[in-house]
Amino acid sequence: MWMATMALVSARQAGAAPTHAQPIYKLASGQAALARHLEHVQLGLHFSVEFGAVALLALLLETRLAGWMTQAAGRVSRRAWMQTAIFSVEVLLLLECCLLLPAGAVSHQALLRAGISIQSWPSWMRDQGMGTLLMLAVGTPILVFARWLLARSPQRAWLWFWLASIPVILTGTLVLPEIVEPIFNHFEPLAATHPELVRQFERVVARTGTEIPPERMFLMRASVKGNGLNAYVSGIGPTKRIVVWDTTADRMPQDEILFILAHESGHYVLHHLAWGIGMGIAGTLALLGLTMGLAQGMLRLRGVRWEIGSLAELPGLVVVLLALVMLEIVSEPIGNTISRTIEHQADVYGQEAIHGIVADPQQSAVKAFQQLGEAWLEEPNPNPLVVFWTYDHPSVQSRSEFAVHYDPWLSGGHPRYFPIPSE
Ligand SMILES: [Zn+2]
Repeated sequence: MWMATMALVSARQAGAAPTHAQPIYKLASGQAALARHLEHVQLGLHFSVEFGAVALLALLLETRLAGWMTQAAGRVSRRAWMQTAIFSVEVLLLLECCLLLPAGAVSHQALLRAGISIQSWPSWMRDQGMGTLLMLAVGTPILVFARWLLARSPQRAWLWFWLASIPVILTGTLVLPEIVEPIFNHFEPLAATHPELVRQFERVVARTGTEIPPERMFLMRASVKGNGLNAYVSGIGPTKRIVVWDTTADRMPQDEILFILAHESGHYVLHHLAWGIGMGIAGTLALLGLTMGLAQGMLRLRGVRWEIGSLAELPGLVVVLLALVMLEIVSEPIGNTISRTIEHQADVYGQEAIHGIVADPQQSAVKAFQQLGEAWLEEPNPNPLVVFWTYDHPSVQSRSEFAVHYDPWLSGGHPRYFPIPSE
């Protein structure tokens, strides 16, 4: 739930629908139809996975398959922690194989057809395999620990679990760019191949009054897998960095890249990662408390039918997961609304930071959004409800409209993050 990275674009992104007749961000008619199709496919997959998880977990309980899986784990080992580990792997693999992998494959096929991805199926399968192993390596010990807590402190387990989650969240954010991201992509110093871009970006950074040394700017070899454009910030403390995809660095004009990098430096300077982690920790507390309440409520209603006496029993973990998934679905707009707010701040910051460095900050931002929208085939007119519920970035359309009108250096204007220069 916490935001480990702040990207310039999400896989599919959004915001408010345009309200006037002349949209700034436009796609050619063939592209627009493809973008709409892609939006429908991704949206369908998104909700299929969410509600599919609810249905699958409920089915495990209603058919008492969870009880059968408990017996299977008991036959393998007599140790409680080992039984929990086996049971957890069974449940996680079931979710992965029945929902996440098929949905991922349909999404990959759609992205291949649209020309956004060029990744071969064997390479995609390797990434999925690594992702599944990673999910099991992280998820299994978490579930073993959760059950251990539920057995020892049934009423307060959620609170202890939350306390233990804080160092895990911090460590996860710390190691993400150093250990996890290199599993899937190749990274190298940006200065090695794009020294002029680094030099120009240093001028932008100098305006921010902070330090983003070139050692913290990386190039990601995204072009081997796709044609999408992106840049993001990631990590915390010693691992904090700005990453630019090579597609972006090689294919966009320098002024537009500088706007993108200035947007990313906004996340960096405005401490959005720290805010994201803080809100993630606070959100986890609320989510865990509500999850425990909902799980206990469901157990009171259906416990006899499910043949489960307490959440500390192995199938009780499925009840907890079911409650967690249900609450994550309904709380999705909260996290996305916070994310869109943060992304808008970075857009404002980015446009202000390149003032006086690029010839026309407004046009640089508008052109950058046009290119990003075309590269990802972003829907020009997304449904406002879809935006509210699922978009973690404002829509390309609303970002473009803001950019074209935002010039705080006009007389009477007030930049939000930079004082008006005295000269
Ligand atoms: Zn961003």
